[in-house]
Amino acid sequence: MPQSDVIVLGAGIVGTSAALHLAQRGLKVVLVDRQGPGEGTSYGNAGIIEGNTVFPPAFPSDFAALARIALKRSTVANYHLTFLPRVAPWLMAFRAASQPQRVVETAHLMRPLFSRAVAEHEALIAASGAERHLRKTGWLKLYRSEAAFAALRREFDLATSFGIAIDPLDIDGALALEPALAPVFRHAAFWPGAASVDNPLALTQAYAARSAALGGAAANGDARTLRRVGQAWTVDTEVGSIAAGQAVVALGPWAPDVLKPLGIDLPLGIKRGYHLHYRAEGNAGLNRPVLDADLGYCLAPMQQGIRLTTGAEFAARDAKHSPVQLGRLMPYAKALFPLGEAIEPQPWMGCRPCFADSRPVIGEAPGQPGLWLSIGHAHWGLTLGPATGRLIAEMITGATPFCDPAPYRAERFG
Ligand SMILES: Cc1cc2nc3c(=O)[nH]c(=O)nc-3n(C[C@H](O)[C@H](O)[C@H](O)COP(=O)(O)OP(=O)(O)OC[C@H]3O[C@@H](n4cnc5c(N)ncnc54)[C@H](O)[C@@H]3O)c2cc1C
Repeated sequence: MPQSDVIVLGAGIVGTSAALHLAQRGLKVVLVDRQGPGEGTSYGNAGIIEGNTVFPPAFPSDFAALARIALKRSTVANYHLTFLPRVAPWLMAFRAASQPQRVVETAHLMRPLFSRAVAEHEALIAASGAERHLRKTGWLKLYRSEAAFAALRREFDLATSFGIAIDPLDIDGALALEPALAPVFRHAAFWPGAASVDNPLALTQAYAARSAALGGAAANGDARTLRRVGQAWTVDTEVGSIAAGQAVVALGPWAPDVLKPLGIDLPLGIKRGYHLHYRAEGNAGLNRPVLDADLGYCLAPMQQGIRLTTGAEFAARDAKHSPVQLGRLMPYAKALFPLGEAIEPQPWMGCRPCFADSRPVIGEAPGQPGLWLSIGHAHWGLTLGPATGRLIAEMITGATPFCDPAPYRAERFG
């Protein structure tokens, strides 16, 4: 394979979006993965393009919620006991970043990316002919307790100041949007500006196909072979070694496998999550993803069925799957929506790559010229893939970035 301009390592939604943006700017780009585009974490998300995001998920502030998690009775989070000593520093940093003033700061620092999320997807979707996957029907969040809904006041006020539309709804208002739901909740918030897709895998494949149509290459290879040879970055693939002046690491939860040997040790944590598809009983259906907020799971209508996605599990990336949250929440989910039989025998598991401050790292790697990072997209990799793909392509080509990339620099970790 001839010399390329840019090697993109990782064909998830983040790497594929970066490759497409680079190809659109006329660069010779090679997308390297050990499996097909979108088959990693990007396969199994809830499909929500959450441009409406204001506050990131926070460390529990009330003792009861924390106690439920500790006693392994929570539907929202689970953990492996043996993993706690390893994850403790990350959890402490997450707790610090969850203080009221810090989440407001994060909301401001992340707004430039979130505000472009839907529009940047629309641009890539139009270029890729993938319109059939996009639903611009918003996102519905349900609240079972008065306290959970009342606690949203600050977030609603900040959202309004950002110009984000929110419709607080009563039970009847929510059922008018989603008639198949049962009134087991007390309040709802409808975020009309959010969008969603009915097949995140197919969307990533469409972006990869568009990149290929523009001359981008794809190669099967192991990113861990990345090394500097002279002035070039080189990686071994099934079609031989590929060299390029620039390389982008977009390996999601696997980024440390490549970065640590290069001396780049970033505090990337993971929050594992599961999904399982269910048939809906009778003619029941959903018009948009629905979050059962107090219980921390989502029901998302997908081509494969109703995809139920779980909250966070703190466990080693490669540890045995333990989808206990599904068992805990199923009675509540079935009471909310008429879920029929499961479609697959086993749940899918993926690892959200998360920094404790809920910001990704986007930019040139410290001390490694020509090596670019686009990692740590946490709960919002689908949402932010195209926006961060555009940002990194603008930085690589020396164009004026559409927003200030300073808040996303790796150097913030010292
Ligand atoms: C249950 C769940 C629900 C979610 N819901 C949403 C949602 O509704 N909206 C949203 O925006 N986000 C959501 N997310 C988060 C989102 O899915 C992730 O942030 C996103 O998929 C991360 O994308 P990525 O491209 O960084 O990583 P990945 O998709 O994991 O891509 C990394 C790629 O690197 C490849 N790779 C790894 N190691 C190597 C190697 N050594 N050599 C070659 N290739 C390698 C992998 O094969 C993979 O294709 C959810 C996540 C989960 C788990």
